[in-house]
Formats: sequence, C-alpha cells, structure tokens
Amino acid sequence: MAKIPEAQARLYKNVFVCKKCKSKVRAPNIKILQGKIKCKRCNSKSFRAVRKK
Ligand SMILES: [Zn+2]
Repeated sequence: MAKIPEAQARLYKNVFVCKKCKSKVRAPNIKILQGKIKCKRCNSKSFRAVRKK
C-alpha cells in the first residue's frame, strides 16, 4: 500500500515526542527549535520528531 504524502504530513508535522516521558506534543517546529516548548508532564525541553521510530 502506497503512503500518501499529504496524510503523512498531516499526521506527523509539528508533532513531537518528549524524550523523557514519551508524551506527544503538538507545536510549531520553530518553537521546538527555540526551546520554547515544555513538556506538560515533566517540563522537559528535549523533544524529537514523532516519526522516526
Ligand atoms: Zn515529558
């Protein structure tokens, strides 16, 4: 089954996962990079993109 780029983008764009507690956060990419987003659960600022693994 082919993957649909639009759907992939919609699902994964601007969604990040906390590296500590693995909760998902939806936030603009730029804010993550600027360190302005904190995890709601553990207040960590380290996120990764949700997509890889
Ligand atoms: Zn967290």
